[in-house]
Amino acid sequence: MGEDIVEATPERVMAVIQEMRSLRKWPESPDDRIDWVIDGLEGHTSFFGHCLVLGATSDATELAALTGPLVDMGDARWRAHQQFDASLFTDDADTDPTAYDRRSALADVIRALDSDAAVYWPLGSNAVVLVDNSGTAPDTAKAAVFVLPIEWVTAPTQEEKALQAPIVQDFLSGDSDRVRSALWTVVRTRDPKVLMPLVAAVPSIKRETADADLGGMLASNNAHLDHALARVELFRKGVCLCAAYLSHQFYDPAKEEHKRYVRIVGTVPNYRQWEPDRICECADCGKRFQVEQGEYHYTWWKWTELR
Ligand SMILES: [Zn+2]
Repeated sequence: MGEDIVEATPERVMAVIQEMRSLRKWPESPDDRIDWVIDGLEGHTSFFGHCLVLGATSDATELAALTGPLVDMGDARWRAHQQFDASLFTDDADTDPTAYDRRSALADVIRALDSDAAVYWPLGSNAVVLVDNSGTAPDTAKAAVFVLPIEWVTAPTQEEKALQAPIVQDFLSGDSDRVRSALWTVVRTRDPKVLMPLVAAVPSIKRETADADLGGMLASNNAHLDHALARVELFRKGVCLCAAYLSHQFYDPAKEEHKRYVRIVGTVPNYRQWEPDRICECADCGKRFQVEQGEYHYTWWKWTELR
């Protein structure tokens, strides 16, 4: 019952897999596929990657006689294979797109071949994936090999994950209202949940906002954007965010106290200004600042660290 298994030795299949790695043609739309023949073996390329079906047969032993040596040859040629557990990735069309783990696409393909796992070899920007359930001796054993962009197999990088965060999306939107709103959110918060996703995204945000004109009459909003990103940098370095008070004029001590970021612990007369200076103590690190309040078209505050 071996008629549904490719007629080729493991060595020949291995040579075809090597050729699949140099295929460069992709279908123009996600619904299309490109059929090809390499060394007499028929396969196809979809948006997902290059696929060579090895067999679908009731004779699992015969299929295993092909796939077993393939795994050994892959390990010898590349490196020890890794396991892909399809049961970990079950996102589907109903999943929030921003939360979708693209490894679910490979997991779906594996499930469609009646498997729940695959072995793979990461090879730079590609991966070779072998799906094979002959070892579990089902009624119909199925096996196929894929050459895919590595992204289908690996976890999203920290930066990719960060780029999905709503506040990062605002910064990258190219919409000056959304950028302004996001930057003031950053200037006004010490919340790690808000700041953490921005850490990995700062290079992208700098790139995307390099030519942005955010307007602003009295003080350029671009300067506020730079300050917001400098705050993220302080957060990344683990520096207490009270350090940001020294380099920006719009930190109102009353508002900072309302958010419990500082305590106002005293005042000092200031005969140049309407308001006395306030002495503020950082609620996180205990540093003290003297804060002068002045007016020049708008109210400003100058924070000076007390030693
Ligand atoms: Zn502090």
